[in-house]
Amino acid sequence: MENEKTKLTYRQSWKMNLRAWKIWWKLCPGVFYSTLVFSIVKASTPYVTIFLSAQIINELAENRRPEELTKWVILTLFCAAGCALLQGIFSRWANYEKAFASQMDSQIYMKKMLSLDYADIDRQAVFDLYSQIKQNAQWTGWGVHRTLSYFEELVMAVVQIMGGIGLSVSLFLLKVPQNSSLAFMNHPLCVVGIMGLMLLIAVVSPICNNQGNQYWISYASEAKQVNRSFSFYANICKDRKRAADLRMYQQQENVCNIYFSRIEHSTIAKNAKGPMGLWNALSQCITAVLTGVVYAFVCVKAWAGAFGVGSVTQYVGAITQLFQGLSKLLETMGGMRANGEFLQTSFQFLDIPNRMYQGSLTTEKRSDRNYEVEFRDVSFRYPDTDQWVLHHVNIKFRVGSRLAVVGMNGSGKTTFIKLLCRLYDPTEGEILLNGINIRKYRYDEYIRIFSVVFQDFKLLALPLGENVAGSAEYDREQVKKCLAYAGFTQRLETLPKGLDTYLYKDLKEEGVDISGGEAQKIAIARALYKDAPFIILDEPTAALDPMAEAEIYSRFNEIVTDKTAIYISHRLSSCKFCDEIAVFHEGQIVQKGTHEELVADTAGKYYELWSAQAQYYTK
Ligand code: ADP
Repeated sequence: MENEKTKLTYRQSWKMNLRAWKIWWKLCPGVFYSTLVFSIVKASTPYVTIFLSAQIINELAENRRPEELTKWVILTLFCAAGCALLQGIFSRWANYEKAFASQMDSQIYMKKMLSLDYADIDRQAVFDLYSQIKQNAQWTGWGVHRTLSYFEELVMAVVQIMGGIGLSVSLFLLKVPQNSSLAFMNHPLCVVGIMGLMLLIAVVSPICNNQGNQYWISYASEAKQVNRSFSFYANICKDRKRAADLRMYQQQENVCNIYFSRIEHSTIAKNAKGPMGLWNALSQCITAVLTGVVYAFVCVKAWAGAFGVGSVTQYVGAITQLFQGLSKLLETMGGMRANGEFLQTSFQFLDIPNRMYQGSLTTEKRSDRNYEVEFRDVSFRYPDTDQWVLHHVNIKFRVGSRLAVVGMNGSGKTTFIKLLCRLYDPTEGEILLNGINIRKYRYDEYIRIFSVVFQDFKLLALPLGENVAGSAEYDREQVKKCLAYAGFTQRLETLPKGLDTYLYKDLKEEGVDISGGEAQKIAIARALYKDAPFIILDEPTAALDPMAEAEIYSRFNEIVTDKTAIYISHRLSSCKFCDEIAVFHEGQIVQKGTHEELVADTAGKYYELWSAQAQYYTK
């Protein structure tokens, strides 16, 4: 996963670009059709004007026939107008398709992000890769999206080169009269020499430009860090949730200093003024020299009598276009090579495999909810860490029972739930569902049997009803029932649009801000609506006031019905109603039993935790 880069060959870069084009072809083929037609029209338009105006000037300078002249002028006007019209039409089409493609661009990564294994989302390396891609794209547009411009530039360059050759070939074939002192220009060596010189200059210019481009590649990684801190500090300033803390601890200056020091010390900014700028300027200078050479050659040949004045404009125009096309072709090839490095990062991200989706067994749908889950000697380390967070955990859930999981902070309770929901796979040991390793089941089916309210659950800035149901289409009565179970009815009545009220203000101005406790009730209602055979509540009442907490507990059996409930809590008094309590300590289950059994063991961890809490109540 590390971003180790070796310079790509043209072939490798070309392959990467081809792959990117294939992605675009699948997403929006229209962008290729429209760009192709537009580029052909755009690249050929100058030649139409160059050719026709040369005819007019020739007629003016030599034969001066009014009818011929009128014919050429009218033809030129019509052709110029026709080309402009076609360009306008096709450019609108191409722009429309490009705008659509731009929107699809972020979707490529969003879809991948959403389909990643949970364990991968958690990894810094994946996060780094993603932010590198975003950063490359926002910085100078490198990456998958850039390949569309390359397609356009390639088509334009090829058409420009072909048109240029067509209109300028006679420049080299037409001969200076033999009696002229410049007749040596007819010598094949002279013709080849001039062509070679022009070609050389035309090739050197894009090489210099590409040399400048190389700096972007070497700076990409550093720019990621700089841009990351830019956006971090810039976002901090406008984050409402941080505003109070920033002021209370007078951090304004602290935050801004880091931001501004980053701007001052950016090596990219310094170097853009130095070698990078020089290469690009050199490239521009060489192009100017090329134009000079072309003018000199064409004018000298016309002076010597090889062709008329009109042809001078034609040849200068055509050759300038031809070399522009050639430069563009080479620059585009260089750009594609440079972009290959950025595409490599994009594909590294898009190719992250899904390990979770390898299972194929379907979980049988049981109306009796008789799903038996067993942890068999499970040990676990988080990816890319050395610390064992769970050690040899063995436990079997009794169907339909209420299990409480207790223990000190960091003892592994949440991790245990994450393994049960298969957000991570055990490092050692196995978890069985009805006797079969859960890896063998289809992942999407397996997670359907769990409803979880995580400690750090998140709701969406969507209507309340959609939040509870997890979809736009839902059973309103059932949603209301679940909200009632979670103790939200009273608040629901105060919401302006009931279930259709937007939560938060991210998407709608009239959205309502809700308190932590209210959010937790909605999250509990969401878990109930899913109606899965297992219901898991991780600190389900942490943000609730004591009244709401008491209300939920008093109706817990009613809420949970025949589901198997697993329930993590710090407040041991609220575990009493559970059939079994598992006590976690340093990643192990050190005790199991009912409240009465555990509290009777005065040497046990449960008794220690219980006594620590009890003293607050008894004092
Ligand atoms: P509890 O729920 O009992 O408070 P957790 O299961 O959240 O405990 O955490 C157990 C241990 O695992 C802690 O030491 C914690 O720092 C570590 N841990 C939790 N999440 C991660 C993670 N994503 N990556 C690495 N370590 C983690």
